[in-house]
Formats: sequence, structure tokens, C-alpha cells
Amino acid sequence: MTRATWKNRACTGTFFPSSAFLSMHLGFEHTYAALSPRFHARVRQTPVKAPRLVIFNAPLAESLGLLAADVEPRAADVFSGNVLPEDAQPIAMAYAGHQFGSFVPQLGDGRAILLGEKRDRQGVLRDVQLKGAGRTPFSRNGDGRAAIGPMLREYLISGAMHALGVPTTRSLAVVTTGEQVFREQPLPGAVLTRVAASHIRVGTFEYFARRGDQDAVRELLDYVIARHDPQVRDAQNPALALLDAVALRQAQLIAEWMRVGFIHGVMNTDNMALSGETIDYGPCAFMDHYHSNTVFSSIDRGGRYAYANQPAIAQWNLARLAETLLPFIDTDAERAVERATHALEDFMTHFDARFLAVMRSKLGLSSAHDGDAELIGQLLAAMQESAADFTLTFRRLTLAATRPDQEAALRELFGSSAIDQWLNAWRRRLESDSQSTNERAELMRRVNPVFIPRNHRVEAALNAASAHEDFQPFRRLLSVVQRPYDEQPDAIDYEQPPQAAERVLQTFCGT
Ligand code: AMP
Ligand code: MG
Repeated sequence: MTRATWKNRACTGTFFPSSAFLSMHLGFEHTYAALSPRFHARVRQTPVKAPRLVIFNAPLAESLGLLAADVEPRAADVFSGNVLPEDAQPIAMAYAGHQFGSFVPQLGDGRAILLGEKRDRQGVLRDVQLKGAGRTPFSRNGDGRAAIGPMLREYLISGAMHALGVPTTRSLAVVTTGEQVFREQPLPGAVLTRVAASHIRVGTFEYFARRGDQDAVRELLDYVIARHDPQVRDAQNPALALLDAVALRQAQLIAEWMRVGFIHGVMNTDNMALSGETIDYGPCAFMDHYHSNTVFSSIDRGGRYAYANQPAIAQWNLARLAETLLPFIDTDAERAVERATHALEDFMTHFDARFLAVMRSKLGLSSAHDGDAELIGQLLAAMQESAADFTLTFRRLTLAATRPDQEAALRELFGSSAIDQWLNAWRRRLESDSQSTNERAELMRRVNPVFIPRNHRVEAALNAASAHEDFQPFRRLLSVVQRPYDEQPDAIDYEQPPQAAERVLQTFCGT
């Protein structure tokens, strides 16, 4: 996003000794902080005036091995950064990135601090990071702070994505600060606690490679392999094997986004995590009516990050990662490029296969036949022509799979008879797919959500919270989207697309 949108006015709160530590151990490890100093800056959080806990994710806390009953009473203090657990070692991470195709040599955590890593109950190391915790050496003109709207948005959408089964960073807490941040207007400030498999981005590699710091790239490469892909250490070509592994995760991730109609909105290389988790929820949105070129982000004027462009952009970002790894892939530059190019081609092959598999299951197909891609393409074309709602189309198709008398409800979404022809073709195809009706319905229910966080609902919920301190709509929406595949008879309104007047056409990066 453009830096010009920032107002350069830092917020000052009541003075707190910034060395306030809490006699509480969260069991943090500090593997990233142990890397050489060029990877991060040691920072102090800037305390806030009046921290208030708005929402706390107790199940996530428990999965991290934190007893919610221990942590929650101190959550406002801890997750605003006013006091730090005794074993925290706050750092801001260095990274660069290609933003809308242009390289920015230094970005870094300008308003986020990593407290440490916590091993979860599965033994996986998870970063615990405060976002909006104050200025860092990477802040440039930014105030280091965050407004409540975007932080609640990240909490809500990441919660929905997790429940939908899409890999994502998680949100542990949102705390309001009792201070204002100045964007276009004064807004309530907030801090989000983010939990991630790691915060290493394509842009982290670019930061060092572009400086010609090959030692650092090597160190980072070893770190990522140890943390995310220990199996590739023994590969013949570990750097290439890592690139393959990252590309495979991205192919799976983007196919999942496409499955649920998610548009990330700002797929810059600094917003693509090597872990394969969705990261940095800015102007992201779920599509209502289907169009392959859908864009919501106000800053994406050229449609670079449009819905159907996401696989190609992921590949472009992976190419930037590959460039940083070339010297480690092969000492012969030409051979290195050739090998990396193969890996990038494999990405698209993986994506295509994954997308086809995902769409097959959305249609209730458990087998693969020639012609499936055409069948899927014809449905999408009919949806686009009729501006049919993406989620409702698949929801009603799911119902029609068990009850042909439900087809009328599906037809209502389409203005033309094209769907009748398509339904006939689909029924014929189902006959060649050996599943019981119940199995098919079950398959379709697992991949076709009833509830997504629809933009008009998100907008209304965030507005109520930000403008009126009314968190009720937010909580209600959150509880609905946390069970996206369940029928919730008392939440039928949340299934519906917006009325014309409610439609949200643009989303803003709102830092
Ligand atoms: P984002 O658009 O959130 O992906 O952020 C891009 C870059 O801008 C990152 O380096 C962020 O740390 C930085 N940034 C975003 N908002 C702020 C802010 N309010 N203060 C300081 N840095 C920021
Ligand atoms: Mg970012």
C-alpha cells in the first residue's frame, strides 16, 4: 500500500516503564532472535493508555499450551504489550518486497513485534506477534499503530478461513488501546496478537539477496529448512527441494482460496509466507456474485490481484523467491535458472491439478473423467453471465444433489436457460460417478460452505465496533462464520448476498 496514505502523527500514551515485565513465563523459544543480528532489530513495545480486551481466542490459547484461565485475566496488559511475559524477547523482523510489481528494498515489521515462539500441543513452533504495538526501526513514516477496524477484520477473516479449512495465520486477541490513531480521521487504536507458523516471507529472502548478502541467504535457507521442511535437508539439492516444497504449498493454498471465493487483494511478495499460510489480511474479501476478474481493493487499480489472477501472481512471487535461491541451486548460473524454471512450471501443474480436484469435489464428483474441466468451466461461465452468487450456487447445488426438487432454487440464481443444459450434463456425469447420494452430499457439504464472511456483514460489524463501540454484530458474525459448513437455522440472513444498496464494491487497506 502507498505510504502516502499514512498520517505522520505518532500517538503518545501515558508513560509506562517500557521494561515492565510480568512474572509470567509463556514458555517462549527464540530461534529467530538467535539468528545473526541483520535479521531483526531488538525493540521495545510502546505501552498504551488504557488497554481493553475485546476478544480472546481461548481454543487457540489452549492449542498453544497456554491455559486460557491463566492468560485471559492478564490478556489486556500482555496483548497490548503494556507488560511482557518474562521470557519474551521482542524483535522486529527485516524484510523487503515487491509491491504491485515494484521492488522496495526495505519494508520490515514497521508496527509488529515478535515476542517469541511457542511450541503448540502438536510440537510445532508458532510465532506470537503483536501487530500495532508501536514504532520500530522499520516504521519509516508510519505511526507503528493500527486502527480497530483492520485488526478486527484480520481476527474475523482469519477465524473464518481457519474454520473453512484454509491454511492461515491465526488471531489470539484484539485489545483496544484507549488511544486514537489518525488515518483519514481519528479512529480507535487496537493491537492484534497474531500466531503464525512463521513470519518468513518471500520478501525476507529478497531483503538479503538484493543486498548481495549471500551468507544471510544461506543462513535463512538453513533456518527455513530446519523449521518448515526438515525432510529436504537430505535432498540432493536442498535449495531446489525447498523451492518445490514452498511452491507445492502455495499451489494448495491458492486452490483453497479459489474454492471459497477468497481474494487476498494484496499479494505482494512481502505478503506471501513460506509456511503456506494466508498472511496479512488487508483489503481481502470474499466474492459474492461470480466474476473471474473480481477485485475489491481500492489500491488494485489494474486488477493485478483479481480473483482469477491469483495463481499467476503466486507463480510470479515464487519466481522472485527462486531468483534469491539461484546461487544455491547450482553454481552454474544457466543450469540454476533452468532448474528453477522447472520448479515454477511445476507450480502451475500442481495448481491446475489441485484446482480441478477441488472443483470436482464442489460438484460432488469423487472420480476423474475427461471433460470434467469443461464441465467446471461451463458452470463458471454460466455463473459469470448471470452474475450468480458464488457461495449460494454451490450451496444450492449441494442441496440439489440429494433432492432434484431443489433445482428450482438453483435456477433462480441464473437468468438464462444455460443452466438447464448444464444441469442435464451434470446429472449425466453424476451417473458415472459411483458414490451413494449420501456420500456425495457429505462430500459436497465439506467443501461448499453455507457461510462466508460476506463483505456487507463485515463492513457493518466493523463499523459498529469502530464508530459505536458496539461489538455485538462482530461477535455474532464471528460465531456464524466459525461454523461455516453447518446449517444454522437462526442465521439464515447471513447466507444471503447483499441487497443492491448494501453491496460493498471496494475494500481499503486501512493500516
Ligand atoms: P502491509 O501493507 O500491512 O503489508 O504493510 C507493508 C509495510 O508497511 C510493512 O513494512 C509494514 O510494517 C508497514 N506498515 C504498515 N502500516 C504501518 C504503520 N501504521 N506504521 C508503521 N509501519 C507500517
Ligand atoms: Mg504486509
